Amino acid sequence: MKKIAIIGSTGSIGTQTLDVVSNHPDQFQVDALAGGSNISLLLEQVKKFNPRIVSVGTAELADEIRPLLPAGTKLYHGQEGLIEVAAGSNADMVVTAVVGSVGLRSTLAAIEAGKQIGLANKETLVTAGHLVMELAAAKGVPILPVDSEHSAVFQCLNGESIREAANITLTASGGSFRDLSRDQLTHVTVEDALKHPNWSMGAKITIDSATMVNKGLEVIEAHWLFGVPYDQIQVLLHPESIVHSYVEFVDGSIIAQLGTPDMRVPIQYALTYPERRPSPGGRLSLAKIGQLHFREMDYARFPCLRLAFECGRIGGTAPTAYNAANEIAVARFLNKEISFLEIESIIEKVLEEHKVVAGPDLEAIEAADAWARVRAGQL
Ligand code: NDP
Ligand code: MG
Repeated sequence: MKKIAIIGSTGSIGTQTLDVVSNHPDQFQVDALAGGSNISLLLEQVKKFNPRIVSVGTAELADEIRPLLPAGTKLYHGQEGLIEVAAGSNADMVVTAVVGSVGLRSTLAAIEAGKQIGLANKETLVTAGHLVMELAAAKGVPILPVDSEHSAVFQCLNGESIREAANITLTASGGSFRDLSRDQLTHVTVEDALKHPNWSMGAKITIDSATMVNKGLEVIEAHWLFGVPYDQIQVLLHPESIVHSYVEFVDGSIIAQLGTPDMRVPIQYALTYPERRPSPGGRLSLAKIGQLHFREMDYARFPCLRLAFECGRIGGTAPTAYNAANEIAVARFLNKEISFLEIESIIEKVLEEHKVVAGPDLEAIEAADAWARVRAGQL
């Protein structure tokens, strides 16, 4: 039995991770769960999976849920709670399914404690990739990608040498507005933005898909996960989300990973790696689909993707500021305070003002993250 802890168990990735666990009750046992504010769902999960350790977002929520928990359950809250679930549990693997750079300290704590990481929380790697990867290498801890594109690349590289890869291509669906011009983006609404054509995901990543920030974050995530320079990472628009990504090798061979868009597949692969298990999702029939489409990425249409490449190349705290500015801008858009296109302009302005710190330690990263959040809130 593999023991699993999940930070962000009540979200889209968290609930799908628990689906995978439910499909293989003989393989996995849930040791610890952290949710944020959705304590009714967390309670259901506790009843079903019986974790030893539980965490919620705040002290007030902890007071609310305490009397409803089975006797003996350890309860924590806040950042300390995420760290307890990640590092203080008996888990063999921690699935990082919180949204945003709030997941950084608990991910580092889990690696420090020698836990395998099933990494969904890409913001962690964007914000502090060098710290996370260095610590993981020092501790001999595998970081197994959950993000579908990175899981695809990871599968394509299985048994191959990264030195023989010429480049990595991440596919992008284009999100909810892929067929709109920039002019047409002026008046789009939150409700429109939340309608992703292929994937059902949390609100923040759905907006990130529409701005192409998500692909920008994934480019930086791929750089750290696979140790490839930015010149060898490409992005291709692929509306159907069937080819999840691919690797071209030095001999011109391309290996791609395909499947229906179902996050339970990459989640399960991270959980069962290096083995595979049956998955109940729909099967891909290329004969039924008939055609797949691919288009060159338009960097003028999606400037946030260009900015992500720039930040990645600059390094230091530039990606930290990019990510933090985006987190605040997206929260403000979801709150209907700013327009869709203002997400881009806020990120751009924050980056213009940001004084990049090279080779930042955790404190410098947290300082840059905090500064960018404040600025993005003011603009
Ligand atoms: P959701 O918004 O659906 O879920 C986020 C989870 O994080 C919830 O459990 C939420 O708790 C919890 N959470 C949020 N803030 C805090 C906090 N301050 N303290 C503790 N818990 C918190 O997000 P997704 O599942 O969509 O995304 C999670 C991560 O996975 C993101 O980094 C995303 O980029 C990545 N990812 C997601 C994919 C998807 O298909 N959804 C695909 C690939 C990557 P609560 O709801 O209880 O408040
Ligand atoms: Mg992805």
